[in-house]
Amino acid sequence: MASPARVDLDGNPIKAMTICMIGAGGFIGSHLCEKLMAETQHKVLAVDVCSDKIKHLLEPTPSNPNLPWGDRIQFHLFNIKNDSRLEGLIKMSDLTINLAAICTPADYNTRPLETIYSNFIDALPVVKYCSENSKRLIHFSTCEVYGKTVGSFLPKDHPLRQDPAFYVLKEDASPCIFGPTEKQRWSYACAKQLIERLIYGEGAENGLEFTIVRPFNWIGPRMDFIPGVDGPSEGVPRVLACFSNNLLRGEPLKLVDGGESQRTFLYIKDAIEAVLLMIENPARANGHIFNVGNPNNEVTVKQLAEMMSEIYAKVSGEPSLEVPTINVSSKDFYGEGYDDSDKRIPDMTIINKQLGWNPKTSLWDLLESTLTYQHRTYSEAIKRAIAKPIPSS
Ligand code: NAD
Ligand code: UDP
Repeated sequence: MASPARVDLDGNPIKAMTICMIGAGGFIGSHLCEKLMAETQHKVLAVDVCSDKIKHLLEPTPSNPNLPWGDRIQFHLFNIKNDSRLEGLIKMSDLTINLAAICTPADYNTRPLETIYSNFIDALPVVKYCSENSKRLIHFSTCEVYGKTVGSFLPKDHPLRQDPAFYVLKEDASPCIFGPTEKQRWSYACAKQLIERLIYGEGAENGLEFTIVRPFNWIGPRMDFIPGVDGPSEGVPRVLACFSNNLLRGEPLKLVDGGESQRTFLYIKDAIEAVLLMIENPARANGHIFNVGNPNNEVTVKQLAEMMSEIYAKVSGEPSLEVPTINVSSKDFYGEGYDDSDKRIPDMTIINKQLGWNPKTSLWDLLESTLTYQHRTYSEAIKRAIAKPIPSS
């Protein structure tokens, strides 16, 4: 029996579309490809320099011998810097989603040029080809474009710091506050802000149909890499993978500058629901910038470390460390030029009004499923790596 036709938020049947997804082999891309294959009829032209995280969708595996989605996903292995294939793929598609970026904070102050090229210059042809060929674009920006909160400039015990007007981040009202140029941490945020402004301008002046996504710390399985196992041993991934690596190795978790910064974490599976709504509801998503986060899942980095240690002990059956955390200076951990966002609470009014989306998964639940995955995927490999360190490439 044929399954009932899927409908959009206004009750119209959803037509199958072709999506050019750049950066499809990364963390977010891999989850989005899985969702599109499992639940829709859309076709994906996946572009990336690496396909490891979507290999299970491209090649039959013993547990999935005949891929039920057939050839609805095609992988194109190339770097979007100066590759003539890019325009052809965008022309063949109804929608382009750009996820490609250098987006690990350890790179922002140590590789500022590559960060700016990746997040601004390399995105320019994507915007140009979409605009010239009248193709819709969903571009991935970041919550980091907000930088620091207004409240962070008040004295620590000032009562206004508790007033949401001084910290809640709103797409159409909050300023973007970065540190000085010498603090190269802000190279990423600045490049992302400029490409946002360019896309917004293309919309206003040339009619580009666009949606800009600002993810607020989406986390889950397949995020980044575990140093010395599936990434360089001296590499520094984002906090989920750093802390997972410490837990897997039985080392104390490192709190940068005491772990006082605050973050809100969103489960990748909730986030992907929001992206699918954007894809399938263009009339509601076009022309908008969306915060996508979970304001209910706020913790300090120190609290995150404590929670992850407790949950890891539960899922692995290994006892917690006697000294679960240690403090490190940001200069020692990230090098010269690091700076930090103090607090990131997304205002959810716009996404809620346009797409009716709300996050569902609590921080405890998302960490429990993610750490179960990390333990299952990496614990044996870590034991082998400890016994015989893998040389870094
Ligand atoms: P990721 O690093 O896992 O994925 C990015 C992918 O892009 C990688 O597979 C990489 O190989 C690919 N890529 C980079 N440059 C490329 C190039 N020149 N040509 C072809 N492929 C290239 O990162 P992610 O977490 O999946 O993030 C995706 C996007 O979302 C990024 O734009 C990032 O800035 C944004 N973002 C993510 C988060 C989050 O919470 N994960 C937060 C803020 C912003
Ligand atoms: N952090 C930390 N220890 C680590 C890795 C990161 O204390 O091993 C801190 C980092 O300084 C920042 C927060 O965790 O305050 C989140 O870092 P992440 O790299 O995930 O990205 P961000 O949210 O800053 O973009």
